[in-house]
Order: sequence, then C-alpha cells, then structure tokens
Amino acid sequence: MDSEVLSAQLQANDIAVAHESRRSDHEVVIINTCGFIDKAKAESIQTILQQVERKKSGKVRQVIVTGCLSARYQNELAAEIPEVDAWFGTEPYREVLQWLQADYKQELVGERLLSTPRHYAYLKISEGCNRTCAFCAIPLMRGKHQSRPMDEILLEARKLAEKGVKELILIAQELTYYGLDLYKKRMLGTLLEKLTKVPGIEWIRLHYAYPAQFPLDILDVVKSQPKICKYLDIPLQHISDPILLAMHRQTNRAYIEQLIHKIRETIPEICLRTTFIVGFPGETPQHVDELMAFMEKTRFDRVGVFTYSHEEHTRAFHLPDTISQEEKEKRAERVMDCQREISYEKNLARIGQVLKVIVDRREAGRFVGRTEYDSPEVDNEVIIHSPKNLSPGQFVKVHITQAYDYDLEGRLVD
Ligand code: SF4
Repeated sequence: MDSEVLSAQLQANDIAVAHESRRSDHEVVIINTCGFIDKAKAESIQTILQQVERKKSGKVRQVIVTGCLSARYQNELAAEIPEVDAWFGTEPYREVLQWLQADYKQELVGERLLSTPRHYAYLKISEGCNRTCAFCAIPLMRGKHQSRPMDEILLEARKLAEKGVKELILIAQELTYYGLDLYKKRMLGTLLEKLTKVPGIEWIRLHYAYPAQFPLDILDVVKSQPKICKYLDIPLQHISDPILLAMHRQTNRAYIEQLIHKIRETIPEICLRTTFIVGFPGETPQHVDELMAFMEKTRFDRVGVFTYSHEEHTRAFHLPDTISQEEKEKRAERVMDCQREISYEKNLARIGQVLKVIVDRREAGRFVGRTEYDSPEVDNEVIIHSPKNLSPGQFVKVHITQAYDYDLEGRLVD
C-alpha cells in the first residue's frame, strides 16, 4: 500500500510510474523492502543488488530504497551498498517526493495507484503494534499501534470503489485493536458497518485478528452483514503452552480452544485461517506433535507455516537459536503435510455445492477465481469452466465438480 500511495503522488506530479515493470529503460527504480524475517530480508537485498547491477551497466540512473528493511538497517546497508542513491523508511511519501523534486499533494489523501487487479484492494486500517510477541520485529520497524481516522479510511474505500474495487481486504498488524488509541474504545465493528454501506463494495475480508482480548461483539457484525466474508485470519503462532508463554502471546491453549469454539458456534460457516511458527527456541519434537494433534482436532480451513527467524533486538534474541534451519524446515513440512490432508478432505466435501466466486483472471483457456472463503495470493482458488467469457471482478456461481489439495474446480452455473 505504501508503494500504491507513493505511485499516485508521483503520477500526479506527471512522473510516469510502473509497478514491477519488466521494461529496462527506467530512470529511477524505487524498491520497497520488507525486513521482518530472514527470508524477506534476503529477498529484499537480492532485489537491491540486482538493481544496483543495472545501475552499474547504465540501464537505470538512480536506485532508491524504502520500507522496513531500510528503516531497520539503513546505516549498515548504506555502508555495504553505497551505489544506492537514497534510503528512506516506511510511509516515505513526502521525503521521496522531495528528493525527486516533486510536491506532496494533500488533496490526494485516499488515492492509490493499485498494484493489485482492479477488483480488489488491501485497505490498511492501522499501522504498528502494541503487542510484544518475542519473535516479532514489526513493532521495532512500524512503531506503536496507530489507528487511521475512520473518515480517512471510508474516503479511501469510496475512492477505491469508484475505481472498480469490489473486494476490500482489511489489514492491520492487530485488526481487532482498531480505535482503542484514537477513540478510546474498540471500533472495528462500527468501521465494518460503515464500510458495508460504501456503494460498489461487495466483499469485505478480515486479516490479522490477535487472539488475546478478542472482541467477541465483532462476531455478531460478521454474522449479520452479508457483505462481510465469513472468513477470519487469526494467527495463533503455536498451541503448546510453554511455547506460547515463551513467545509472550498472552494466550494459552485452553483460551484459544474456547475462542475457536465460540467463533464457530456463532458463525458455523466461517472459514478460519491461521499461521504457525515452528522452530522457536526451546520447541521440541513433542511440541510439534502437540501442534499437529491440535490441527487434526481443530481442522482449520487454511494454514500457513513460518520457520522461526532469529531477529536482533526482539525479546527472543537472547534465547539460544539452536534448532538448525534444516530441522525447522522439516518441522514446517510435517505441519503442512498434516494440513494438506485436512484441506483436501474439506475440499472433497465441497463437491456438488454451488458456490459464489469472484473471477480473478483468465489462465490457460480457463478462468480462475475465489470464494468468500479465500484471500488472494495465500488461499485456495477455483478453476472455472465457462462456455462464455468472464471478466475479472465478475461474481458468478460455480458448481463444484473436482477437489484438489488446495483448489477446487467446477462449471459455471447460468
Ligand atoms: S501481534 Fe503481530 S505484529 Fe504485533 S508483535 Fe505480535 S506478531 Fe508482531
């Protein structure tokens, strides 16, 4: 989203902008980096080095780096990669514009040049996080929780809808904390109700609800509003009590089980997505067994797994990171194998159902879309066989005829 806001500002200054362009004749390349775990850092550095090589060979005039990695390691990186022309942190709009001798245009608040397909967009409702999860470097880079004013979010949602966005994907480091800093009370429910009234928006999806102090009243809003996808991404990170304690997650297994029961009891059709971390210091194979037994019992709809990344200045950094990367990868693979079976069984149960699907793209002569139970990039897809042309962003009904580990396939229903 930072890139999209900056792109809109640059375009308004008559600077031509392209997102992830494959062309080779750009004057300036701006790299927005991520720096919260090893893999993301390595990927960001590789991209910087690639662009620096292009600069050396005269294909690019200037290379600018922004984002979390730059905010976290600016001095070290500047010393290591002096070919980069300028380094900026997160939300660097004014600074980058000034550096490019362009103006920040206040009237463009809420404007973004979308890098996603035009029918869906991520909508950030707050930045930063007040939690102290031991493994997490995000608060170091993004600071304390800062809710965006509701009017600003609604204005942005209206502008996105006017451009053709039909699905809003709400994101925040802690979605359920929304409003506590700014309005002195949790306001996610109110925000959701207002967003459902934005003309043109048909789906609203919720990502990153923190399990501790989960505001149960949100469930009634999700249940009663047809435009809010029956979908919740609630990262749990682990289930074993000693690991949850060491992670400073402020939850325990009994609380998590009760919460999941309550969510499913209130909204039986809800799709629950979660993420886990394996290889945290002190995790034993028995802790992983416990996690897998919990997954088999709970049967999440969607699961993502990360391997623990030992990040300096986090609370966990003083703990010995003795589990090898190879062992971490093995544990992650076991956990994903467990989920693959669950996912396949859940998909099999969908055969014969007629599901509402949003069309995302055409690919290899077929159409590909998602149900309300699936977020782009991370979740399942539906392969659609249709005798007629379908457009991205179109909602269709699909009769499911085939199930795979993570995807479904079916025929268009007229
Ligand atoms: S809630 Fe999320 S962003 Fe906040 S510290 Fe924990 S893992 Fe990091």
